Amino acid sequence: MRIDKWLSNTGYGSRKEVKQLLKSGAVTLNGSIIKDPKTQADPDRDHVLVHGEEVVYQEFIYLMMNKPQGVISATEDSRHETVIDLLHLEAQTFEPFPVGRLDKDTEGLLILTNDGQLAHTLLSPKKHVPKTYFAKINGSIPDGTNERFREGVILEDGYKTQPAYLKVIHNSDEESEIELTITEGKFHQVKRMFEAVGRRVVYLQRIQMGKLKLDESLELGTYRELTEEELSLLS
Ligand code: URA
Repeated sequence: MRIDKWLSNTGYGSRKEVKQLLKSGAVTLNGSIIKDPKTQADPDRDHVLVHGEEVVYQEFIYLMMNKPQGVISATEDSRHETVIDLLHLEAQTFEPFPVGRLDKDTEGLLILTNDGQLAHTLLSPKKHVPKTYFAKINGSIPDGTNERFREGVILEDGYKTQPAYLKVIHNSDEESEIELTITEGKFHQVKRMFEAVGRRVVYLQRIQMGKLKLDESLELGTYRELTEEELSLLS
């Protein structure tokens, strides 16, 4: 692997910044100063030091973001800001992508990673990874909604949903609050499930994916790396 990629992936900045760092003579490979960004080094065998400190190679990055409304959960979009645009350059150098999609107007837990294996595990329909949403609904929750969602409700295109679990937090004629756990990820699924019982979702936030809960102390639009413990909850 090229030394500039190694250093960039380990959080030493963009390729351009890493080039400057190398030029300054701060980097050694097995004890010798190296200045050429194209120098090849093997993370399994070679020792790279920056300002005398060993650099441990990090291949994967795992981020938890509290997605705000108004941004698209995609890596690129010609017209709108994406969740990748919210990342600092250091995180962007790992080329992470969002694991699954949240609608533009949905907030909350979004995992971003460059680990395709983990993404596949979390998204595979066969794994039935549960996802829990908090939602505000216009009007009250009709009687029998719990049972209808548990048995599977027919969406407007004829699709019957897998069993889903509804917890009513607050029920009122004006606006109600619920938590809904689903194990699939059909397009606009939560919104369409409420449409099927004659209601409209007016606010939607994902609060949990598998056993991983949204860190409520993360401000909207910010993110952090998952801890080892959180990561182990996902695999
Ligand atoms: N269900 C929806 O309707 N929207 C989302 O963003 C996620 C689940």
